[in-house]
Amino acid sequence: MADQFDLIVIGGGPGGYAAAIKASQLGMKTACIEKRAGDKNQIALGGTCLNVGCIPSKALLDSSHKYVEAKKSFADHGINAEKISFDLAKMQQRKTDIVKQLTQGISGLFKANGVTPLFGTGTYLGGNNVLFTASNGETSTLEAKHIILAGGSEPIQIPVAPLQGDRIVDSTGALAFNEVPKRLGIIGAGVIGLELGSVWSRLGAEVTMLEAQPTFLPMADVQIVREAHKILQQQGLNIKLGARVTGTEIKGKTVIVTYSDAKNDELKLEFDKVIVCVGRRPSTESLLKAGCGVNLDERGFIHVNNFCQTTVPHVYAIGDSVRGPMLAHKSTEEGLMAVERIAGHAVQVNYDTIASVIYTHPEVAWVGLTEQAAKARGEAFKVGTFPFMASGRALASGDSQGLVKVIASEKTDRLLGVHVIGPSATEIVMQAVVAMEFGASAEDLQLMTFAHPSVSEALHEAVLAADNKAIHIPNKKR
Ligand code: FAD
Ligand code: AMP
Repeated sequence: MADQFDLIVIGGGPGGYAAAIKASQLGMKTACIEKRAGDKNQIALGGTCLNVGCIPSKALLDSSHKYVEAKKSFADHGINAEKISFDLAKMQQRKTDIVKQLTQGISGLFKANGVTPLFGTGTYLGGNNVLFTASNGETSTLEAKHIILAGGSEPIQIPVAPLQGDRIVDSTGALAFNEVPKRLGIIGAGVIGLELGSVWSRLGAEVTMLEAQPTFLPMADVQIVREAHKILQQQGLNIKLGARVTGTEIKGKTVIVTYSDAKNDELKLEFDKVIVCVGRRPSTESLLKAGCGVNLDERGFIHVNNFCQTTVPHVYAIGDSVRGPMLAHKSTEEGLMAVERIAGHAVQVNYDTIASVIYTHPEVAWVGLTEQAAKARGEAFKVGTFPFMASGRALASGDSQGLVKVIASEKTDRLLGVHVIGPSATEIVMQAVVAMEFGASAEDLQLMTFAHPSVSEALHEAVLAADNKAIHIPNKKR
């Protein structure tokens, strides 16, 4: 007899586990299938985000940032901290402990909410059926009224740089280095490459990033990217643009990387380790049986409508499995939306207010339209910027690189986009997200009182600057 559920969620990442918890809260009999094994061969919930993504990367980014601060900027504050050193094994253990605490926390939440965790692989067969292959190999067919596909993504591999032990690794391997490579090559200057490059560069690696395109971070505002390029280069990340990797070879302890650029067909660099960070692709192989009725789009993502419904109406797909930015919070919101819609509630994700963040230091964060996107749309817009150099709070804390940039409609005065590189960029952008969710105009923010001294005042000044009303910087000549 097939097991009967109201909802089966396949994949226990930030999309899948949140959907499962929500469904249980709404009274659905819910199971969540996850194949990832933790230590002691137990189910590891939390997906890429908790296990090998957002959380472990931020743990190492924060540890390495504290080290660099102590080494390089404490002296500016009059603090003598000579002979600063670090213990990489302890740093890694701290990261592992945080991951463990959080993944076990999700298991606890499943228990508290009555979600049934199933350790193994789920494959959607068609109709209302899911094949469950338990971690011990036993198979069974489960039945559910609704199914959510939340299989997430995996790193893209490229034939010119096949992974090799701990020498040529993907992001997962790069989070687990047990020694700091002297010379580190990174293929791809995307978000993950920049974050991992920052970690290892701060800990002493000589980092060279090879990016095939003539620019990088195409989804971010060009002015902010220019600033990021300048600051990250100053920090020691050697970002080579227009450098396409064409081959790799391991010779003894060295990885030789061959690449081409605008002027040369063949250039070579030698590294101790190389990280391949050329993007991620949806992992759908084990998720869907051929002919199950769920279609993929031309890029291999599961095809969905605006509400994450697949070509089979009672089957939804969310997160990294579907179109849009690969972000944990986007995945979670889609999971919650899918469950609400299954429950008959007309909930919708506002894709215009999903923030993006790069956790370098300074952070880069943004929401809404970039200047180049606003131009491409033919939108009449005004721009206000404010440099953190003019922020009392940023100067006091010794963190005054970067700027806030606000883009607002010339016609309606509505905020269209906010872009920040600088201290607490993420938190500043989240203020913009709240404002934009409520349809705020530039004037709405101009009339608000911001606490002093705070780095958030830079948002206030930038939005004032959009109308030539800034107080703490000269305004544009009228
Ligand atoms: P996933 O988290 O990938 O979860 C999918 C789960 O499904 C996996 O655990 C997988 O084992 C399981 N699964 C797949 N197929 C099956 C199957 N057939 N049966 C059973 N289980 C299956 N995003 C941010 O927003 N902020 C960040 O700071 C950030 N940092 C990142 C840093 C790194 C190094 C990486 C790699 C990613 C980062 N991301 C970040 C991206 C983020 O991790 C993903 O966008 C997010 O995890 C996607 O969530 P998801 O639930 O869609 O998929
Ligand atoms: P993202 O998709 O943000 O993770 O970024 C991945 C980056 O890797 C993109 O900017 C790609 O242009 C870059 N990339 C892809 N293939 C290569 C290659 N062979 N050599 C160098 N960079 C590459």
